[in-house]
Amino acid sequence: MQRRRRGTVRDLRRENRAAVLWSLYFSRPSSRQDLSAATGLSAASVTNVVRGLLQDGIVTEAGSEDSDGGRPRVLLDINPDYGYVIGVDIGETRIRVELFDLAMTERAKAEYPLNPAEHEAEVVVRDIAAGLHAVLAEGEVDPTAVLGVGIGVPGIVEQGPDVLVHAQTYRWDAVPLERLLRAHTGLPLQFENGAKTMGQAELWFGAGRSVRNAAVVLIGSGVGASLISSGSTYQGPSLTVAEWGHTTIVVGGRRCRCGSAGCLEAYVGAEAILDQCSSPAALSADDEESMLAALIAADSSPTTDAVLAETAEYLGVGIGNLINLFRPERVILGGWAGLLLGGRLLPAIRESAQRHSLRHPFAAASIELGQLGPEAVALGAATLPMEDFLNGATGQQQRWPVPPNLDSQRGQVQRDEAGLGLRTQVRPSAITTRGTRLGRRPNERAVS
Ligand SMILES: [Zn+2]
Repeated sequence: MQRRRRGTVRDLRRENRAAVLWSLYFSRPSSRQDLSAATGLSAASVTNVVRGLLQDGIVTEAGSEDSDGGRPRVLLDINPDYGYVIGVDIGETRIRVELFDLAMTERAKAEYPLNPAEHEAEVVVRDIAAGLHAVLAEGEVDPTAVLGVGIGVPGIVEQGPDVLVHAQTYRWDAVPLERLLRAHTGLPLQFENGAKTMGQAELWFGAGRSVRNAAVVLIGSGVGASLISSGSTYQGPSLTVAEWGHTTIVVGGRRCRCGSAGCLEAYVGAEAILDQCSSPAALSADDEESMLAALIAADSSPTTDAVLAETAEYLGVGIGNLINLFRPERVILGGWAGLLLGGRLLPAIRESAQRHSLRHPFAAASIELGQLGPEAVALGAATLPMEDFLNGATGQQQRWPVPPNLDSQRGQVQRDEAGLGLRTQVRPSAITTRGTRLGRRPNERAVS
């Protein structure tokens, strides 16, 4: 009985702490009075929680503001250097690895181009491992200060003791991605569908803020969506992934990469659009992203206009279906190809969506571009460990078994980096945008 009561008090403390942290995280800086008003907690409870957060170094004092006639109020802020999170985007055309501090300011970034036709799991794992080491070195961050790594993956993630990824268009059938990566890193890892991580990024920081129900559409070579329901400023939204790209819109239509026919992805995915296109500007570019950018920037011509008009029409059909099915307040169009397409075609896409949905739900929905750019998947992946931290993970890193030969594996990664350069015919260049400094070790401490 006594034990249960102690547990209840502990739960309550954790809930109060989470409420204060979430509130502060999304309105920085805040005074204790602001936090009390935002969370509904008493002034005494907020003071207690804040005392603990200050002692732990998670929160810092950040000046003061005048209050009406009373004593100035001390402002509180998140301490950006308390810990770090890493987001990884396994995209079709590149692997992106980004390191963020606790305030979600990007501290380092590494990118590795992928050949869209070459997604072998071992290539992807090797690039991610290289990227993790590169961003820690560039950011000069000790691995023990990393709260966790979130990884946005294509396809369906089967959570469990051994995370499995099913990505039919990559020919990944139950790929044990966690186990493969675990051979390279001791950092805590979390996996989620990339459309869902992008949705979470837009929900936290972009076009999904202040919206309770939204559909976030991710268009790259492939197509996906995530659905946000009952969103709120903190602790509550639920995100569901929809394999929207593989819903059939043309019976007996074009072959899709998934093996079926007539899928939406076979009409609005970047690869499908480029298959229909013979624009000289697009064809002279050497990768999918540049080709689509050239097509969209091209002057009006019968071929270009026809391809783009058809794309807008089908994308509007797909969005109209989402509106009829889920009645979102907002449809957010993102992903590198979605942002390119939306930049030119948004009015035509809206017009098609209107013709292909019912009047009442369409009138309640806005269709907008994502605000976070093509890097939203990696940013959203980094919110996965951040979410756990705000919910009450202590911030002390979980101690995963670190491979005993970590040093020799670091050497391996460096050799792989060199190896990537040798594969230039397949993959133009392995780049890190701010350069890697793998030769220099991050200021390491022993991981116990
Ligand atoms: Zn398909």
